[in-house]
Amino acid sequence: MQNLRKIIKQNSFIDLGKGFYSNQVQEPLNEPYIVHLNNQFLNDLGLSSISPKQLMDLFNGTIQIPNNQIISMNYAGHQFGQYVRQLGDGRGILIGEINKNNKKLDIHVKGSGKTKYSRFGDGRAVLRSSLREYLCGEAMHFLGVPSSRSLMIFSSKDPVYREKSEDAAMIARTALTHIRFGNFEKFFYDNEQKKHQELCDYVLSEYFPKEADISDKYEYLLNTIISSTAKLIARWQAVGFCHGVMNTDNMSILGETLDYGPYGFMDKFNPSHVCNLSDTSGRYSYENQPYIGLWNCSALAHTFSKIIDKPSLKKILSSYEIEYAESLFDLYKNKLGLKNNLETDQDLIQELLNIMKIERLDYSRTFRSLSNVIKENNSIRLNPVLNEWAVKFTKRHKEERTDITSRINLMNNNNPKYILRNYLLQIAIDKAEEGSFEEIDNLMHIIKNPYDEMPDYEKYAKESPDWAADIGLSCSS
Ligand code: AMP
Ligand code: MG
Repeated sequence: MQNLRKIIKQNSFIDLGKGFYSNQVQEPLNEPYIVHLNNQFLNDLGLSSISPKQLMDLFNGTIQIPNNQIISMNYAGHQFGQYVRQLGDGRGILIGEINKNNKKLDIHVKGSGKTKYSRFGDGRAVLRSSLREYLCGEAMHFLGVPSSRSLMIFSSKDPVYREKSEDAAMIARTALTHIRFGNFEKFFYDNEQKKHQELCDYVLSEYFPKEADISDKYEYLLNTIISSTAKLIARWQAVGFCHGVMNTDNMSILGETLDYGPYGFMDKFNPSHVCNLSDTSGRYSYENQPYIGLWNCSALAHTFSKIIDKPSLKKILSSYEIEYAESLFDLYKNKLGLKNNLETDQDLIQELLNIMKIERLDYSRTFRSLSNVIKENNSIRLNPVLNEWAVKFTKRHKEERTDITSRINLMNNNNPKYILRNYLLQIAIDKAEEGSFEEIDNLMHIIKNPYDEMPDYEKYAKESPDWAADIGLSCSS
């Protein structure tokens, strides 16, 4: 166990003390077996020197690192617009932290059993939802979207009851932090101002040590959180990702995508798409995500109202929309292969999105096909409804100074060929539930190489079949 201690350190969050978390004892699953290992990432973290079995036993809780306190975090949050005073890690634990390129990463296990914050829940996760989270963290990372990342998924025949009985599973994931907007909300609404400030100081000293002592450190902190959130959501929009549950307790303060539930990548482009069946009002629809991002930032900013004056708070919040719009514009420009800025570019992008919406074109495939337009003598693989737009697009490309190869590369490196579509996941889940895990390997391969042409994997780049529309995803996981 000493070798584990050398690599995995005690999570520094415990320095904050009582009220911030609770000490936890794991509840291991019986006879667990590995469903998938993310070998490449384990290797990057120096964890491949530990046997997979030993790692699983550590994450499952049958072995422990000596003198290591495992904890669950305490937080609140706005869920679907309503403040909920007591949430917290109801089925998650922080095992420790690990160093990667001088940055620390939390190691967190989800599905690990009841905690102090489980409320009415069983503290468990099922194989289906664990697999969705396991794969999506990696998919987002390789699409260039900041995200928690996946280390390992394992399962057990222990039954977990949702709509029906399902196999239990756990995933081990990493993230820069698991501190959420909701951690700040908890202390603000509980009138624990001292703790709120301690949390701010902790985040500053852990993640922004250079700014930890500047006179406007809290303004700096809030501004940074808001800016990284705006940039993150611009990236979601650009890859056509819907999170599904943008509650403030699922918002990382370091701008990473966290907590994958009923998420979905857009198939046919539909801005009002809602991926979560439990979201009956469409609060978290694709087109609402940027506004909800701002709503969530306002909720967070409100918790700073005792340490930042009102005009400053307003000013910091007003940066969100600018930051978001600039980021999104840059991302779409890359998708179109354009480097220069012309006044008409915004219209060019909007016109394309309008056609895609009216004609219900596949979001990712349409963008991927655009590089064909500018390849000489090659407009065959473009949908005919885009012909008129393509004339403008071709004309616009003539204004670029960069050569055609670099423009095509720019497009192909920003328009993924492979996307983790719900139907692909569903096939992998169905097979995994029958005990066969090879399809997970195939999906791992495409999500780790989303921009490459891979003839052997051509079928994974197809449009979703009609039955995909019937895949219903809700919060139950
Ligand atoms: P989520 O929708 O997964 O982000 O969860 C919202 C809150 O409910 C968090 O505090 C979770 O820890 C908690 N929660 C979700 N599922 C369970 C479960 N099966 N058992 C206990 N708590 C849960
Ligand atoms: Mg959550």
